[in-house]
Amino acid sequence: MSTYVKLSKRLHTIANFLSEGTFFIDVGSDHGYLPCYVCQKDPNAKAIASEVREGPFLRTKDTVHQYNLTDRIDVRLGDGLSVLTDQDNISEIVIAGMGGTLITEILQVGKDKLIHIDKIIAQPNNHAERVRKFFLENGFHLVDEVILEENDHIYEILVAKKNGSSSYREDETIEKQLYFGPILMKEKSIPFQKKWQFEKEKYEKILKQIEHKQGNEDKIRSFKQKLRWIEEVLT
Ligand code: SAM
Repeated sequence: MSTYVKLSKRLHTIANFLSEGTFFIDVGSDHGYLPCYVCQKDPNAKAIASEVREGPFLRTKDTVHQYNLTDRIDVRLGDGLSVLTDQDNISEIVIAGMGGTLITEILQVGKDKLIHIDKIIAQPNNHAERVRKFFLENGFHLVDEVILEENDHIYEILVAKKNGSSSYREDETIEKQLYFGPILMKEKSIPFQKKWQFEKEKYEKILKQIEHKQGNEDKIRSFKQKLRWIEEVLT
């Protein structure tokens, strides 16, 4: 196939964070569009595309074959970073389109494979704060964050580097910055405001339902704290 891969705005933004001449792993590649796009655009790029399920694994293999990139993209079946060997000299990881808990688990389980990794680009569909916390506790500096809207979804993309400088401020609690993202809460872009307005209304609705029920004290306290934070960042 001679045409070029077309990416969504979300995947395009992720691809742009990879370094020139990158050798990276795309964990949970699903269809393989991202590594194919990167290798078409950058003649020196190489990738490993991994999948834990056979269907997406075969689909990714098919895409790589269709775009004649089998010599530069190695498609592997396996769980998370376990597909990597000591001989794989990769320096960057993309892990996108999964929940923040799963992304954190995959990075945590594969921690011994992170020694030679300089950059991780993560796009958690939820619980981004868990991924930020993992970076903070494991020597990765959060160097960039993007929030964008596409097809009625709001996505957060986090970029962490081993050799970078931290984006966290000293005059704000770390918990609050992990929750909103230190860069995103400073920029307060339209999608950011939209996301947190939606979350605010969600918390208000839940609080109304559980406020007078016994046994929910911890939940209520935590929701009220988050509501206070949201009101602070939205003003
Ligand atoms: N990364 C692509 C994107 O952002 O468009 C695909 C996202 S898709 C929703 C998530 C993919 O991750 C699925 O294809 C799933 O099979 C794969 N996946 C889930 N857990 C995984 C794991 N532990 N290791 C590798 N792949 C995994």
